[in-house]
Amino acid sequence: MSTEQDAPEGSRMSATPEPPLLRLSGVHSGYGPVPVVHDVTLAVREGEICALIGANGAGKSTLLRTISGLLRPTAGTVEFAGTDITRDRPEAISLRGLVQVPEGRRVFHGLTVRENLELGLWKRKVTAPEERERLEWTFSLFPVLEHKLRARAEVLSGGEQQLLAIAQALVAKPRMLLIDEPSLGLAPLAAERVLATVAKLRTTGLTVLLVDQAVERVLGLADRAYVMRTGRIVAEGPAARLREGPALQEAYLGTLADSD
Ligand code: ATP
Repeated sequence: MSTEQDAPEGSRMSATPEPPLLRLSGVHSGYGPVPVVHDVTLAVREGEICALIGANGAGKSTLLRTISGLLRPTAGTVEFAGTDITRDRPEAISLRGLVQVPEGRRVFHGLTVRENLELGLWKRKVTAPEERERLEWTFSLFPVLEHKLRARAEVLSGGEQQLLAIAQALVAKPRMLLIDEPSLGLAPLAAERVLATVAKLRTTGLTVLLVDQAVERVLGLADRAYVMRTGRIVAEGPAARLREGPALQEAYLGTLADSD
């Protein structure tokens, strides 16, 4: 279990004077006239694994899409690395090093593992030696993919496809990943393997905002967490503390009661 005490150096956040890598202030967003996210303020510090949890329909994916530029906030600001990216296009945000791994193992089934990884380098100016170095770095985190480079993605297991989706984002050498429901639809063992790989990303110094329904496991690997309910942040704090406290149950049970 991750605690403030045993968190690695890069993720300790006590009295750090550094500004957060990602900062949202008063963000509202939704789909056309339908508001979903209400007045969200949050911050993720460099090197931190931060979880965003909440019941189905709480607005977690909508918030990630808003951060990555797929949805434009109707109010509020999104800052990344000290720059206001609120009105930036998704490609521009991705090129700044803030990359989303969307829900649902979005890999190209008809392409090989290698071709899928190369797509992660799209529009990135990398030399051949840099590309080799990035692939090697990615394989050090995802050794299983190196053995299947020539296999078409469709023959990979669900868990391997999810790892490939994360790896595709990683070859771009992002500063921060937004990972949406990586364990969704996977058998327990595969889900555990995928989340263990996400936990391993901590060693790279990468910053992660992670959404997943495997709440216990996610709070076990995250440094801090935000709890969302009906589009609002209703609790935040060190993951270990949220795991023990009542805020979590209230967020989930409250939402269930609302939907009755
Ligand atoms: P889950 O864990 O089930 O994915 P979530 O917390 O990620 O839930 P969202 O997917 O962000 O929640 O959905 C929040 C609300 O936005 C829901 O009421 C959903 O119906 C609505 N919604 C999601 N996607 C769209 C869309 N493309 N168009 C209109 N409404 C949408």
